[in-house]
Amino acid sequence: MTNLADPVPGGRPGDVERARALGGELAGRGVHGIVLAYVDTAGIGRVKAVPVAGLASAAAWGVGMSPVFDTFLAHDQSVTTDVLGSPDGDLRLYPDLDRLVVLAGQPGWAWAPVDRITQDGARHPGCSRTFLRRIVADAARAHGLTFKAGIEIEWALGLASAPGGEFVPATSGPAYGATRQVELSEYTAELLAACAAQGVDVDQIHPEYAPGQFEISVGALDPVAAADRSVLVRQTVRAVARRHGLRVSFSPAVTARGVGNGGHVHLSAWRDGVNLHSGGDRRHGMTADAEAFAAGVLAHLPALTAVTAPSPASYLRLRPSQWAGVFTAWGLETREAAVRLVRGTAGRRAEFANLEVKPVDLAANPYLALGCLIAAGLDGFASGTVLPEETTGDPVRLDAGQAAARGVRRLPTSLGEAVAEFRGDRVLRTALGPVLADAVSAVREGEIEAVDGLDDERVAAAYRWTY
Ligand code: GLU
Ligand code: MG
Repeated sequence: MTNLADPVPGGRPGDVERARALGGELAGRGVHGIVLAYVDTAGIGRVKAVPVAGLASAAAWGVGMSPVFDTFLAHDQSVTTDVLGSPDGDLRLYPDLDRLVVLAGQPGWAWAPVDRITQDGARHPGCSRTFLRRIVADAARAHGLTFKAGIEIEWALGLASAPGGEFVPATSGPAYGATRQVELSEYTAELLAACAAQGVDVDQIHPEYAPGQFEISVGALDPVAAADRSVLVRQTVRAVARRHGLRVSFSPAVTARGVGNGGHVHLSAWRDGVNLHSGGDRRHGMTADAEAFAAGVLAHLPALTAVTAPSPASYLRLRPSQWAGVFTAWGLETREAAVRLVRGTAGRRAEFANLEVKPVDLAANPYLALGCLIAAGLDGFASGTVLPEETTGDPVRLDAGQAAARGVRRLPTSLGEAVAEFRGDRVLRTALGPVLADAVSAVREGEIEAVDGLDDERVAAAYRWTY
């Protein structure tokens, strides 16, 4: 479980001694440096690094980094809000020692996610990992709930030798094709070995639908750990690919047309060790709380897309009938519904039943995405939202009357529409707090401006190798 306590100047109790011992042990294992990782509002992974000898000091006093990155865009221009984006000030990055791993795909390096506090020791209101820790802690306190989450990872593999920014798929052969598995046999085996060495339990790895596309799914963890894991696995996918002459894109739309890269979120709520999505007396074994939670997620989905699909490229992916879930519909095992109830196999439902939320991609900051999804679900409890009738089949086939009866509407078709929805969603804005909420709006608006006038092909090309 994630330690939900905030870092403090001088170090969390026990951390400094632990970091000193750990630093020595890591040095003995040939580790030279530690990557300190966080994800910014735009969804870009940012890092600092320290030598192993500096780990104890980092655990005590953190490592400095400017808060300006909270309002950086994907291509490193910065925008400002009332309080963020100024070149003034400094933050301290504190590694979470529970999550420190030796990177199997990058010899000589270890990795740890960080929380960020101010130089005065206060929570940094722009820190997305701190936000998610707070949401999880509040849900435990107010509702007696815990959560399990897993984020699927899809990526396209291109040839590193391709000219310019072109995408030349690294495999031929059909979707889920044995051909592709053979072609990238060494790469995927090394990736599995790296995940195992890093303590990541992989459920599956397979060639996906789109050209050069693969997917890995991993075991569910508490939400903060699941978001950390998503960042770590992507670092690993990229590092191992590089050793095989491959280039990785997690962009929602590697090309302007066709199926994109998703980052579907699996989420379940638990009380007293019991999964609320199974064994209940409501539809398909859901409890009343699980129905209300799903209803809350559905009700907030249009606004959530500003967080879960944060890039102009996200809206090239979010098209009907491409398994990205672009309607506010739910269904049992329905792969075109935005919220898919995964009931699971008889005999394992109590453990594995969950909600899969599909309009999420890997441009999304996973801490913001999970925190906002949980806040939306909890609002379903608070406001007594009723889960409408379920949808079977592709929601695109519903006529206007059927769609209205089920509350099914198309999700935003552009980042601009998503931001407008987000601006009107008091629940999400309140959950994020004013600083992060403003950062989300400002960064999305900056991103919209950055692609002004570009056609779909150019938008895809602009973000192809950014995520
Ligand atoms: N690649 C699809 C997406 O964009 C998902 C395919 C699947 O169902 O796994 O979300
Ligand atoms: Mg998939």
